[in-house]
Amino acid sequence: MNILLLGSGGREHALAWKIAASPLVEGLYCAPGNAGIAKECELVMLDPADHPAVIAFCKGSRIDLVVVGPEAPLCAGIVDDLAAAGIKAFGPSKAAARLEGSKGFTKDLCRVNNIPTAAYGRFDAAAPAKAFVRARGAPIVVKADGLAAGKGVVVAQSIAQADAAIDTMLGGELGAAGGQIVVEEFLEGEEASFFALCDGEQAIPLASAQDHKRAYDGDCGPNTGGMGAYSPAPVMTAEHARRAMEEIVLPTVRVMKARGTPYKGVLYAGLMITADGPKLIEYNVRFGDPECQVLMLRLMSDLVPALLACCDGVLKNFDLRWYAQAALTVVMAAKGYPGSYAKGSVIEGLDAAAQVEGVEIFHAGTLAQQGRILANGGRVLDVSAVGTTVAQAQARAYRAVDRVRWSDGFCRRDIGFRAVAKDAAPR
Ligand code: AMP
Repeated sequence: MNILLLGSGGREHALAWKIAASPLVEGLYCAPGNAGIAKECELVMLDPADHPAVIAFCKGSRIDLVVVGPEAPLCAGIVDDLAAAGIKAFGPSKAAARLEGSKGFTKDLCRVNNIPTAAYGRFDAAAPAKAFVRARGAPIVVKADGLAAGKGVVVAQSIAQADAAIDTMLGGELGAAGGQIVVEEFLEGEEASFFALCDGEQAIPLASAQDHKRAYDGDCGPNTGGMGAYSPAPVMTAEHARRAMEEIVLPTVRVMKARGTPYKGVLYAGLMITADGPKLIEYNVRFGDPECQVLMLRLMSDLVPALLACCDGVLKNFDLRWYAQAALTVVMAAKGYPGSYAKGSVIEGLDAAAQVEGVEIFHAGTLAQQGRILANGGRVLDVSAVGTTVAQAQARAYRAVDRVRWSDGFCRRDIGFRAVAKDAAPR
């Protein structure tokens, strides 16, 4: 088979690494990719937003399957356009991608179908939103309805903060994404990322994972795209996973089918594990980044037949096998991220770092130039490792991090701390 992967981050490097290992694959291409992905496959200078160019490349290179990494092309309908051109693609249609593209759509779907989630209101004017905030009190969460690249959620600790977030979002700061907002109850608990492959009718869960969204140690500082992740997530017991499937994922898949917009692809449920069990914080319509990196390290089965089964509607009785080992990834980011940062600094020591036992380094934002690797984004590297425990994976990953010479980079030093503490606690 010939496969085209779309995207350029650490998630796509992990997918490329796993897809390249499949005996089914003859040609693997990635657009636009990065310096690490270039080691797994051939890079193609295509803009995933340019659907006609993607289709032309697929036809010219006899692509059998397109795997879409990020949400933006999915929400823009690339899977529909490829399908219309007779090209198979892994990921949801534009209509199904609304599960991520509109928070209000998903909240209404949950309410109508009794899917556990935070109580909420939808608003397009400030006064009723502020009245809702006053009726519920703080802490409270204000969210832009549309895609806002991680900037659309404010967890307000006070009414004044909530008011400010309402004014900023409805004031147009986030463009069209903030034209409507959702204001919702603050959920108490521990977060977990729950993934399921879906074929429009069936869904099968993947291994559990947890990420760290805040920029600095101790889960402090601003929200980011994710500073590290690990799998398995100890908080996600077998019972929570069962309930997440029964109460959240499967009803969603059923409803999407009944609406005439079946969900195919990977469904990523951001969950809060509350005292009453798992509740949905939000859906994403693609793999998490950096959770994908640890899932791919733990997946024993060939990924490609699973992706095809989603596209073809034959997931029923499909079985995925996982390594018992734990996996952990540490994101190395450019100093200043998630605020402004410089590009172009030189990164050295990657080969020495990759030699640490159990380590795999995925590139998230790099560029190769004259034999050197340069930083080319906010999140730049995902230094990842497997181990018999999360603690061992963590130790290996940081041993590798310490071999990377990059003065303009930083990382958290505590990725996985909750899981490590649970591992160490007497049972
Ligand atoms: P989201 O982009 O919706 O995943 O939100 C970003 C982060 O905000 C989540 O990972 C949570 O840490 C936090 N968050 C979002 N909604 C809630 C909620 N209802 N209660 C508590 N925390 C939330």
